[in-house]
Amino acid sequence: MPSVFSHAIAAVAVGAVAVGGRSRAAVWGFGALCAVAPDLDVVTSFLFRIPYRDMLGHRGLSHSLLVAALLGVLVTAIVRRTVPESPGPATLWLFFFVATASHGLLDAMTNGELGVAFFAPFSDTRYFLPWRPILVSPISIHVFLGYRGVRVMWSELAWIWVPAALIFLTGLALRRRAVETRGGCSS
Ligand SMILES: [Zn+2]
Repeated sequence: MPSVFSHAIAAVAVGAVAVGGRSRAAVWGFGALCAVAPDLDVVTSFLFRIPYRDMLGHRGLSHSLLVAALLGVLVTAIVRRTVPESPGPATLWLFFFVATASHGLLDAMTNGELGVAFFAPFSDTRYFLPWRPILVSPISIHVFLGYRGVRVMWSELAWIWVPAALIFLTGLALRRRAVETRGGCSS
């Protein structure tokens, strides 16, 4: 898996394109949580001794498109109730779905562990993308802080952080331009 930071950053980049308005920072924050959530399966697998290859194991059901869709519904309901001036439910759901699904997509671009069960619970087939440039992140904090962790961070910097920053800045620029255009039309 890429590190939790990289999953969160990817979601915020998508958020800059998909969600504007006064509540955007709060909505992006919820999107970042959605993008990190699938890896809670590391905790449940450890607690309940679930084998990695099991559908409930790491990169199984929690990384599926179905769970991304359902989590999108749940988080949309929470945001609509708790965040003032939030966007409409369709925009929120789409953002939270893409933010959550981006986690599996990035995992499927890593060079290690098992693939991602995108279509669980209907199929337990694990998938990787044909292109896998991201070094897999060690789960152990001790290993993460060593030389291998440095190599992983460089890999994530190049393949996730830099593209995410470009997407983020493009999203902000497009939204600012749209606001200016609307302002120009109305004056
Ligand atoms: Zn993962």
